[in-house]
Amino acid sequence: MTKPTVLGQRISKSFGHLQVLRSVDFHVGQGEVVCLVGPSGSGKSTLLRCINHLEKIDGGALYVDGELVGYRRVGNKLYELGEAEVAVKRAEIGMVFQRFNLFTHMTALQNVIEAPICVQRRNRQEVVDEAKALLKRVGLEDKLASYPHQLSGGQQQRVAIARALAMKPKLMLFDEPTSALDPELVGEVLAVMRGLAADGMTMIVVTHEMRFAQEVADRVLFMDGGVIVEQGSPGQIFGAPQQERTRAFLSRLG
Ligand code: ADP
Ligand code: MG
Repeated sequence: MTKPTVLGQRISKSFGHLQVLRSVDFHVGQGEVVCLVGPSGSGKSTLLRCINHLEKIDGGALYVDGELVGYRRVGNKLYELGEAEVAVKRAEIGMVFQRFNLFTHMTALQNVIEAPICVQRRNRQEVVDEAKALLKRVGLEDKLASYPHQLSGGQQQRVAIARALAMKPKLMLFDEPTSALDPELVGEVLAVMRGLAADGMTMIVVTHEMRFAQEVADRVLFMDGGVIVEQGSPGQIFGAPQQERTRAFLSRLG
């Protein structure tokens, strides 16, 4: 195993009385592509949101790049991060949601350059050049000046991916990035994700696209009821699942 980029140890998380994550242990190595699968309500989005500082864990420990998420260590003391520090940390992680969440009043190019210029305070011309290259990489070099409403769902999601990449993230989180798309648009988004994986990006992908998981994942985690029931290579999970719950889930997918 390569050095873990993300490490979770006995993570727990509740919303009121509902325990959503129950002592979850997992790791993601550098350059690894991990697909997180499981029924609706099993805690997949919550786990991603904890990694990206959108939720706080109640128990256990979560590390990104060896640093405790949400805390700063000074000597042997831990201090909770303030809002500004959290924003800096969150900017190191790209996240792509089911809904594309583009800024509707901005063109594709403006969407991609906004955060690097306004949050990272980087040089505008340099950012614009990089953004054009990123939009080319996701196949949208001819859509720089298009607004979201002028783009298909698949194109919007590819802009969202380019926008996340513009921050030069060390880790990309995808939460059902193709679930809101018409079936004929799913392939173009998965193709971009395949390319990213091939380029060595560390990725955690929540998906119902089992073929994508089969082909692209280094490891598949099956989650149910707030626990990771089983994990292994795609061959192990899809070919020879050990747990009844995994078998039941996969057979329901048909
Ligand atoms: P998944 O992504 O696997 O479908 P989620 O992580 O979104 O699952 O949700 C797990 C459980 O936590 C669900 O029962 C959901 O209703 C609940 N939940 C998620 N977010 C919140 C929240 N902010 N407040 C209360 N309950 C929540
Ligand atoms: Mg979810």
